[in-house]
Amino acid sequence: MIKDLLKDKVAIVTGGTRGIGLAIVRKFLEQGATVVLCGSRAETADQAVKELKTENNDYQVSGIAPKLSDLADVEQVFAKVYQEYGHIDILVNNAGISARESIYEYQENDFDKIVDLNLKAVFVCSKAAIPYMKKQGEGCIINTSSMVSIYGQASGCGYPTTKFAVNGLTKSLARELGKDNIRVNAVAPGVTRTDMVANLPEDMVKRVSAGIPLGRVGEPEEVADVFLFLASDLASYVTGAVISVDGATQV
Ligand code: NAD
Repeated sequence: MIKDLLKDKVAIVTGGTRGIGLAIVRKFLEQGATVVLCGSRAETADQAVKELKTENNDYQVSGIAPKLSDLADVEQVFAKVYQEYGHIDILVNNAGISARESIYEYQENDFDKIVDLNLKAVFVCSKAAIPYMKKQGEGCIINTSSMVSIYGQASGCGYPTTKFAVNGLTKSLARELGKDNIRVNAVAPGVTRTDMVANLPEDMVKRVSAGIPLGRVGEPEEVADVFLFLASDLASYVTGAVISVDGATQV
């Protein structure tokens, strides 16, 4: 098995404590990267680091918990990461929350909250990491979008709205930063078996699976494999792409 696709690379992964983010962190570590994972709280970040270290004590992993939509806070924390590791090569903007409320029940405050994390944080973390990537002469940003960024969603309109915007930010930054040798891509997962999906009733998951040509929901590791490809030199000519990992789901 290939073991050093990300040798000597330093990656920051937001939402790295569980689900898709944790699967990405694990793949990156297995391929030789040093990974700084972000959690919503220091305790959850520390807990994830502890579990990973128990799996393999050689993993180079640490945890941080900046407020992802606060540029000053993120800049300060990323500066410390750079100071400690000397690089920021890969940024994965993965932290996200979903929404299901109808427009009649949707509260203004909840709309602000989802925009803050799913969209503004992608801008903020990118803005904080890009100067280091430019200085290094290369870099890679990967954003977690969603299949609903293609189809929309019949409830919780804030969620697809942010994911459509993430695709726009991805493609725009790819065009702006190509000259600095910084690649920017997004992955658009379909229904993936994480806590986000664990909250759905099993009969709903079965109904959803029946509508997927591959006949099942995705596993976090299957999504993480595409992040690994995009983060590695195998994707050296891939930028501005939004790659679906959804078993050809049609809505
Ligand atoms: P999850 O709920 O298992 O994990 C979410 C992660 O985001 C956690 O690590 C959590 O700590 C972090 N997070 C949540 N609120 C935060 C906050 N306020 N500040 C900082 N971090 C915060 O979810 P998941 O399914 O692994 O989702 C990860 C990404 O994948 C999200 O962007 C989500 O929109 C996207 N996605 C998921 C699915 C799916 O079916 N699971 C499908 C498409 C896209």
